Amino acid sequence: MRLTDPLSAQFRLMDVQKTALKRLGIATVRDLLYHFPFRYEQAGDESSVGGLQLGQEVSIVGVLEKMETKKAWKSRRPVSEGYLRDSSGRIKMRWFNQPYIAKMYLDGTRVRAIGKVTGSAGKLYLANPQLQKVSATDVADAPIQTIQIDPELNALRNSPEVKNGEPVVSSVAEHGASPANGVRRRDDATDLSEVQDLFAIYPETKGVTSLWFRHAIKKMISSGVLDGVEDPLPADILKRYHLPSLASAIVWMHAPQKLVDSIAARKRFAFEEVFFIQLSRGVERAMQAREQSFAIDAPKNVLDEFINEFPFKPTKAQEKAIAAILSDMSSGRPMSRLLEGDVGSGKTAVAATAAFAVVKNRPHGQNFGTLQVAYMAPTEILAKQHFESFITFFENNPINIGLITGSGCYKFPSKVHKGGATNISRAQLLKWVANGEIPVVIGTHALIQKSVQFKHLALVIIDEQHRFGVNQRKKLAQKDIRIPHLLSMTATPIPRTLALTIYGDLDLTLLDEMPAGRKPISTEIVKPTDRAKIYEKMRQELEAGRQAYVICPRIDEPDPDKAFAVMAKSVKEEAKRLKRDIFPEYEIAILHSKMTPKEKDDTMHKFSNHQIDILVATSVVEVGVNVPNATMIFIEGAERFGLSQLHQLRGRVVRSNHQAYCFVAPESKGESTMARLKALTTAKNGFELAEADLLQRGAGQLSGAQQWGISDIGMEALKNLKLVEAARKEALDIVKKDETLAKHPALQHALFARANQVHFE
Ligand code: ADP
Ligand code: MG
Repeated sequence: MRLTDPLSAQFRLMDVQKTALKRLGIATVRDLLYHFPFRYEQAGDESSVGGLQLGQEVSIVGVLEKMETKKAWKSRRPVSEGYLRDSSGRIKMRWFNQPYIAKMYLDGTRVRAIGKVTGSAGKLYLANPQLQKVSATDVADAPIQTIQIDPELNALRNSPEVKNGEPVVSSVAEHGASPANGVRRRDDATDLSEVQDLFAIYPETKGVTSLWFRHAIKKMISSGVLDGVEDPLPADILKRYHLPSLASAIVWMHAPQKLVDSIAARKRFAFEEVFFIQLSRGVERAMQAREQSFAIDAPKNVLDEFINEFPFKPTKAQEKAIAAILSDMSSGRPMSRLLEGDVGSGKTAVAATAAFAVVKNRPHGQNFGTLQVAYMAPTEILAKQHFESFITFFENNPINIGLITGSGCYKFPSKVHKGGATNISRAQLLKWVANGEIPVVIGTHALIQKSVQFKHLALVIIDEQHRFGVNQRKKLAQKDIRIPHLLSMTATPIPRTLALTIYGDLDLTLLDEMPAGRKPISTEIVKPTDRAKIYEKMRQELEAGRQAYVICPRIDEPDPDKAFAVMAKSVKEEAKRLKRDIFPEYEIAILHSKMTPKEKDDTMHKFSNHQIDILVATSVVEVGVNVPNATMIFIEGAERFGLSQLHQLRGRVVRSNHQAYCFVAPESKGESTMARLKALTTAKNGFELAEADLLQRGAGQLSGAQQWGISDIGMEALKNLKLVEAARKEALDIVKKDETLAKHPALQHALFARANQVHFE
């Protein structure tokens, strides 16, 4: 058997299991071994029937009662049933499709039952519990101990220590399982025959239980699949950071005997993941550095003139960003820069200036035409907004600007509408882009995916797209050996460890200063008793001609039959309620992700034109929508959003010089909710809030987390700055000496395998 073998060759899988495994992205033996538990429960410290909670995976010791085989009420399929009694009471147990269980165990037998508490409050039962006979002496009557991994990792988190500009990295694993002189080898590590002390609990999914995973993984490990398996991490790195080998780590992860072992294993996998991301970024960066780009020459006076015509004075941060970009682009080597700035910090003006500098340049040896710029936005709405902003920024320097979207193409200036844009055919627009007559083209990401032909593409500007590699840039350059400069922009505030990891191939510039004259947004936490007062305040603003957003966590009402339905406000119901009970005189519309792009677009368009006063929406409005007249945002169920997400939502209304208001209404008023929300009223910027989110809610909750392609374990690692810096240093040291990894075939192979894996997800 090999790690790459499909699971279906090893197990007889039922359809539900196949579906579940597919959903979890588990196809091969390797995938299974890399499906990690998120916590452990300790056997021996048993729960008692008394305090069971729905959903718990428990291990209870007790005596069997009333074991019998029955027919299920609806399906008529056979089930075994019985009760488990301990000193605190008894709980029902059910085994579906296993009529023999009741025959195998006699009433009065003392057993340990391991299974999941299912059912509904008041009618709890254990579903398909695993039974082990126990003698009266093995039993400890202690409550169950659930071991969360997070707090442990948290304790490992160290404040950044930097000496002589170099991070101190020697102690990544100092709290780990292993003694300082290397990995504690447990030669019998693959022998799982003895009863495990800790039970791995895996992320839940319908069809495969934690028990199934424990069994399946145990089977794989005992079949010897780990013998001679190659460790992708170089041995000297393992040694330096006291990380366990791959084989030990897999065993320690799934079936640890001590919690410290599992922690050491997690750390190893976290390190591995961050290391490989860093390695690929390092290789990417080295590849970029060998490429050529157009050297952009932009005389200072010409640029100053352009900037002086802005209707505002640029902030210091904008000036610095512009200077950095111009310096990058002047060298003839490709710029790869990320501009990170809170919503409203003025990224568009920076982008427009970069575009202006480019179009002031002629292609070499040509006395007509200019170099070209492509600007990609994540949505059509935003592409249109950027198109309009660019038209304004270029008012006194008229150039041709094109807009390509799925629903139509436009060109500015128009011969027909003075000062406006004309609708033109896609073919015509593409022709003008290809022959260089349209130097600036704005569109959605389809703009590059469909490979529009440019004549001399010198700069690509991308909004809120995470990865844009050197190969994509080469493709855009087509036959030209010069690849375009890249200016990537994001308003997603992320913590430093994450930035170091996912943006390892980019140079970072922060726009950490808001334009002057902005009135700070007034953020208020809404107490239930204040609702009426707040609605009155909103009414006054609406009367003064302003508009409002109301954000709800859900689209629809929850299904009352679903046991765990989230009882949060829904867009549809809240819109009806507001219209009926609170604001009957105003136009109210809804916006959510299940609407078609056209419906969304129409609604946004009407909201922009003030045909709608109140837009009730899910967090879809998060990304960059700009309606300056909307000055209020009321966020329902606020504790369901991360702080940085709330911050981004709030950013929707800091678009003008009107006083803006943000009302956050939590459903519960627990102390921690209040404390967390209070951070919103005091934080200076989004980065601070992102750090707070990382610490309080975990990395998985950071907004945008899905798109980064980092596993849960990698995200956990981001709480550990030392680990991230160590992985980065090791990866970059290797790339520095061996840019293409030619001398490290194992690493090259592992990188390639990873890249493909991400690709096929
Ligand atoms: P974002 O960084 O979120 O993309 P925008 O570029 O859309 O922000 O800018 C938000 C608003 O602020 C726009 O209306 C823009 O014209 C304005 N703006 C940008 N820079 C400044 C500045 N330095 N002073 C005043 N207003 C500015
Ligand atoms: Mg923007």
